[in-house]
Amino acid sequence: MANRIRPVDEKVKSMTIALEQINVEKAAREAGVPASTLCYDLDKVKHALPEVLQNRTPGPKPREKLVEKTQAGSPEARPAACPECDGVVTKNGTYWVLNWLLMLSMGWLGVQQVLIQRWRCKACGHELVSPERARQVEARRAWWSQVNRLIGLSRFKLGLSVRKTQILIRFVYARQVSIGHIERLTLRVGARAEMALTRLGECRQAVARFLLYDETYPKLQKRAYSLGVAICEHGLIRSVRCITHKAKDAPAQLRAVVGVHFQPRYFLTDLDVSFNKYMTQAGLKLTHLRDAVHLIRQIVRLFDEAVRDVTLDVPKGLSIQERKKQRKLKRRLLRKRLRPLLELVFKAFSPGYESICVLVLEGVVAQLQDPTYIIQTASVQALARRLQRFIKKHGDAINLLLQLAVEQGTPTTTNLLESKNSILKPFSRTAKFFSVPSRCQSFFAGVALMENFDVKTRGSHQGTSAIRRAGIDLDEFGAADFFSVVGLSAPQISLPCITE
Ligand SMILES: [Zn+2]
Repeated sequence: MANRIRPVDEKVKSMTIALEQINVEKAAREAGVPASTLCYDLDKVKHALPEVLQNRTPGPKPREKLVEKTQAGSPEARPAACPECDGVVTKNGTYWVLNWLLMLSMGWLGVQQVLIQRWRCKACGHELVSPERARQVEARRAWWSQVNRLIGLSRFKLGLSVRKTQILIRFVYARQVSIGHIERLTLRVGARAEMALTRLGECRQAVARFLLYDETYPKLQKRAYSLGVAICEHGLIRSVRCITHKAKDAPAQLRAVVGVHFQPRYFLTDLDVSFNKYMTQAGLKLTHLRDAVHLIRQIVRLFDEAVRDVTLDVPKGLSIQERKKQRKLKRRLLRKRLRPLLELVFKAFSPGYESICVLVLEGVVAQLQDPTYIIQTASVQALARRLQRFIKKHGDAINLLLQLAVEQGTPTTTNLLESKNSILKPFSRTAKFFSVPSRCQSFFAGVALMENFDVKTRGSHQGTSAIRRAGIDLDEFGAADFFSVVGLSAPQISLPCITE
């Protein structure tokens, strides 16, 4: 009889008979072992037969089920009649679905399921949606929107990688969300944020006259591309752009950032000469001002160069070592002599001296040229010349910059911009993984938009967000918080749905 399940006893019995027919003496001789040893081993085999021949179910051992089917939905009343044809409704089986409601509210409890009764019309076959199913559908939608918001927060505020985001969601909701979903959502949110940033210039807002611009992280990924960041004096990030082709992208960005309601008059940057070129190429006719910190740093550099470039007038035949010593001494003396003048420079840029800043700088030049004050060595003369040239180049802009600051409270430094850069910087680790600059750009747009809506909890802007300080008309902008702007609104779940 084929395919019959043979009992273990039967198999053991036949095997025992087979084993007993072995000629032990002959086999031991052939194997070259004592017959007693072979007997002993055969005995062991006989004893193990029931264990070896035991019937086992084929395939791998079943794993314990992770999903607990705990909640059987409360027995539901039979619907009165079919809403389509008024026919008789009958039960049509039950099925388990994930309990989305529990997952939304108590995800850490683990994945739970709920039993749903299906009802069907006998006449037309129409399937009725039971209240429990409707509840679960609503909860499922709410769960996904909450998870998507969490992804948005994790990616654009916390700066977590895709995988870390996945871990976070798994921890909170005991359910895995795919890497692909997180990646796709990141791209979608980024693209929407980018559109929102371009919309900023079209919204009514408080007057903003300054356009602050800088370029950061000169090397994102292996290919050399940087991020151009434009803000206004309220600290609102108005544009971020991946710059792959400087002469083209930077002017395009500057052109795009100006809008109907954002018409800046002043362009504030550091001393990089290319910024002026970009502005002209963008067709903007703004007054170009330079950051005070960079101006001071530039003057300090001139002083350092003067000290470095001291020349020696020593008799020939002096040993190199002696020469070095002499030069070191001379440098120290010059540095000491120049210190009061450098302190005067710092003073010129300090609060209260705005109206005489340039005058003080000119005074410094006059003192540098005064032989009764300082010996007119070549390096000192060069310093006086360079400082004079510096004043000629930047004097008017400095006067204007400081005057505006006093009269209208506008910034004298690009510190606001630098602090934005420091917020964007940690995200460049994540951004490295975008192989295409355009995706990297929309990712940074998301970070920038998040930052614009971020209400500061400390510092001078405590309690306000940049978008509020800039007075952007939020009705015109279309949304009042980051998540709504990028289409991740709070889940609209009704309280009865949760509590019933
Ligand atoms: Zn029906």
